[in-house]
Amino acid sequence: ELELPLPPRARVLTVANQKGGVGKTTTTVNLAAALARSGARVLVIDLDPQGNASTALGVDRRADIPSVYDVIIEDQAIRDVVQVSPESDNLFCVPSTIHLAGAEIELVSMVAREQRLRGALTRFLDAAEEPFHYVFIDCPPSLGLLTINAFVAAKEVLIPIQCEYYALEGLSQLLNNISLIERHLNPELRVSTIVLTMFDGRTNLANQVADDVRSHFPEEVLNTVIPRSVRISEAPSYGQSVISYDPNSPGSVSYREAAAEIANRGARTNG
Ligand code: ADP
Ligand code: MG
Repeated sequence: ELELPLPPRARVLTVANQKGGVGKTTTTVNLAAALARSGARVLVIDLDPQGNASTALGVDRRADIPSVYDVIIEDQAIRDVVQVSPESDNLFCVPSTIHLAGAEIELVSMVAREQRLRGALTRFLDAAEEPFHYVFIDCPPSLGLLTINAFVAAKEVLIPIQCEYYALEGLSQLLNNISLIERHLNPELRVSTIVLTMFDGRTNLANQVADDVRSHFPEEVLNTVIPRSVRISEAPSYGQSVISYDPNSPGSVSYREAAAEIANRGARTNG
C-alpha cells in the first residue's frame, strides 16, 4: 500500500454540496477508505438522514442504535456511538439513523444550535487514546442546520462537483453560505478541495465544465478526476468501498490517487 504523509493534527473536512446525487457520499466513503488503507486513522460522521455513508461503510444503522442524532440532540459522547467499519481497523463511523430526519427542526430552538457537532467532535478528538488523522463529515443535500453544524465543526470544505450542464448552478449560493459561516461562526473555514466526479471524458460538455471549474478554482480542484464507473455505484450494496470491492478498477485507482493528493497537499500547507 502507498505510504502517505500523516497530518500532525486531525484534518476535519466537511463534504458539502446542496445538490443531491453529485457524489458527496461516494467521495466521503472512498476517500476515507483509501486514507485508512494507507495507515491513517479516519472517522466518518454521517450527517445525512438517508444514512448512505453508514450503509456503504457496512455499519449498523437500525433505528434503535445510538447515532449522530443522540450526539447532536441528546449530548451523547461520540465515543459511545462510534462503530468500527468492517472495511478497516482504522476506519470508524458515527452512523445516522432515521431519527436524524427530525433533528433539523429540533435544533431550531436549541442553545448554541450551530455548535453542537463541533463541541462533541472536539471532546472526542481531544480524549481519543490514539490520535485521528482525518474526519470526513458527509452532509445532506441542503444548507440547513445540520450542514451548518458541519461547517462549524470543520476547517476544510470539500465540494464534489458533477461535470454536467447545471454543475455551477447553486455553487455561488454554497460559497456565499460558506463565507457567511466564516464571518460569523468559524473564521478558520475555507474551501480546500474540489473533486470532479462522475466524469465522462467522451463528452465535450464534461470537458468544458471541467475546464470551467478549473479556471475558477485553480488551487482547489484536484488533478485527479473521478470517472463514471459502474463498479463505484455497485460497491455500496455490498457494504464496501470500491477500494475493497474492486481494488484495481479505474474508480478505485482514481479515489486512491485523489486521497494521495489530499494527503500531500495537506502536508504542504500544514508545513
Ligand atoms: P450524494 O451523496 O451527493 O447525493 P452519491 O454519492 O450518493 O451522491 O451519488 C449519487 C449516485 O451516483 C449513487 O447512486 C452513486 O452510487 C452514484 N455514483 C456516484 N459516483 C459515481 C461514479 N463515479 N460513477 C458511477 N456512479 C456514481
Ligand atoms: Mg449523500
